Amino acid sequence: MYPTLNAHPAKQRTLKTPVSLKGVGLHSGIDVSLDILPAKAGTGIVFRRVDLLEQPSNNAFDKGNSASRRSDHKNFGIIENQKISVKANALNVSDTCLGTTLTHSHNSQIAVSTIEHLMASFGLMGIDNVIVAVHGPEIPIFDGSARVFVEAFENATCLEQNQNRETLVVSKPWKFQSNDSFILVEPSDRLEINVEIDFKDPAIGRQKVNLAMDDPNSIARLKTARTFCEFHTVEAMQKAGLGQGGSFDNAIVVDNGRLLNGVALRDPNEFALHKALDLIGDIALLGRPVLGRITAYKPGHSLNNLFCRGFLKEEASICSNRTNISQNNESQSALSRGIAPLDQQDDLIAI
Ligand SMILES: [Zn+2]
Repeated sequence: MYPTLNAHPAKQRTLKTPVSLKGVGLHSGIDVSLDILPAKAGTGIVFRRVDLLEQPSNNAFDKGNSASRRSDHKNFGIIENQKISVKANALNVSDTCLGTTLTHSHNSQIAVSTIEHLMASFGLMGIDNVIVAVHGPEIPIFDGSARVFVEAFENATCLEQNQNRETLVVSKPWKFQSNDSFILVEPSDRLEINVEIDFKDPAIGRQKVNLAMDDPNSIARLKTARTFCEFHTVEAMQKAGLGQGGSFDNAIVVDNGRLLNGVALRDPNEFALHKALDLIGDIALLGRPVLGRITAYKPGHSLNNLFCRGFLKEEASICSNRTNISQNNESQSALSRGIAPLDQQDDLIAI
């Protein structure tokens, strides 16, 4: 069940149970597993490079006596997790070439790439708070869409928490333009995403999609839209050490008007839908859901991130009516019924 952003105030959400997934990284070509764990309200989306803990004790994260520290499990969790975590925030984006990469501002080893489809899945499902414990430098690509993530979250089900969301309610139009591409936000009582693309290759060409995030049909189309590339870029990409895990199973490849995959598109506008999915993933890095109409012309990860940075700078003048009402009363009434809200449970989950 997808959350509606129309009703205010809305509760923050997390997963009810952990989700574990494993797959190949598109650019690194290595198998990566990840555990997506419930987290308390106000956490946001936090990535943890747990593989860095598995490295020899002389690494940058383990200068002390690890044996004595690990004897105290709780301490171990707090100290180590802080050192290997990077928050999903547009200001932590370090690279937007062929994907979105997050890097810790003080330690470049704490980096996670190709986060955009996972972030889009959090956006589609209205998930505000989770810890993504990833055993490698890259989120798996699966079939090039968000389907595996979204379906795993549907199976795990989502849990409403005892704090309201802070929603970015757009109250006046604001446009970010770069050359001939742009992203425009305008007031609306629902989250709408309109995307138009225009590629030279006639296999892609001009496509336009108009989507609403409270419309199950829009969500169903978005979650299955696969990433794509032009064949002539594949060799250059692989020479640069990227795309090592790329295949016809995880990307649509086009070449001068032809689809090389040998399978049909999942939607006549699959290319524009995927650009909309990427946009949803990148704007999820604003850290709070947006309520408004977003119109993007020729978007990409670089434009999306520049838009987010500009939006965050101008937020006070673009948005109004941001909601962040404490729900202490509800929390206390849950406790009086003997039910511990998730926010009051220990979130030191063993990983
Ligand atoms: Zn993508």
